[in-house]
Amino acid sequence: MRIATFTQTPFQQNTRIVSCEKTNTAICIDPGERSEVVESYIRSNDLNLLAIALTHGHLDHVGGTSALHSAFPDAEIIIHPDDEELYYSLQKQPLFMGIMPEQLAMLGLDYDEPPEITRSWEDGEVFAVGELRFSVRHCPGHTRGHVVLAELAQKVVFVGDCLFENSIGRTDLPGGDHEQLLDSIRRNILSLDEDVEVHSGHGPVTTVGRERTRNPFLNGLYEIGRGRYV
Ligand SMILES: [Zn+2]
Ligand SMILES: [Zn+2]
Repeated sequence: MRIATFTQTPFQQNTRIVSCEKTNTAICIDPGERSEVVESYIRSNDLNLLAIALTHGHLDHVGGTSALHSAFPDAEIIIHPDDEELYYSLQKQPLFMGIMPEQLAMLGLDYDEPPEITRSWEDGEVFAVGELRFSVRHCPGHTRGHVVLAELAQKVVFVGDCLFENSIGRTDLPGGDHEQLLDSIRRNILSLDEDVEVHSGHGPVTTVGRERTRNPFLNGLYEIGRGRYV
């Protein structure tokens, strides 16, 4: 497995190209913006882009879908059904966040109409990319349709905005639910082996074990503050 990370957008989102070295097939996880660097990485490594694999529908994760799909029209566009509405509302999302219409172009947030979704994630499915096997896990809480993609043989999980080093995803945006997010993280991420690498949508790579013991939202510290520690 090869992972190339491109930190993009005003939100410093980690767009990733994950490829199977034996077959040269690849997926792009969360293309945040139109990017010639990402396109030329795919072309220069002669990769067959199988899919644009979206963890969730926020603008900093899906904003580059239209451009990437125009460049590689055979690639599937995959998102969970519960985030379809968010995905199709891409052009309105910056306005929901309080960004003024006249600022959109300057910030690179003046998006094209998002292309049609071609396939939906199903919780528990296994998605093959060459010899890689991604186990798809529905993790609502940051958004309703967030998924994480775990490649268990390679000990890697791509968690989007569910979990970050020392932090967790925000839950104040539409569809967010804090308790649900904690439950999703415990069930689908912390249950993995401690040496599994965690690749987040923002910030550095961490591990399941590190977050289990040091992340204040997950190690019990946060519960003390709420008077719920037992
Ligand atoms: Zn997000
Ligand atoms: Zn994000």
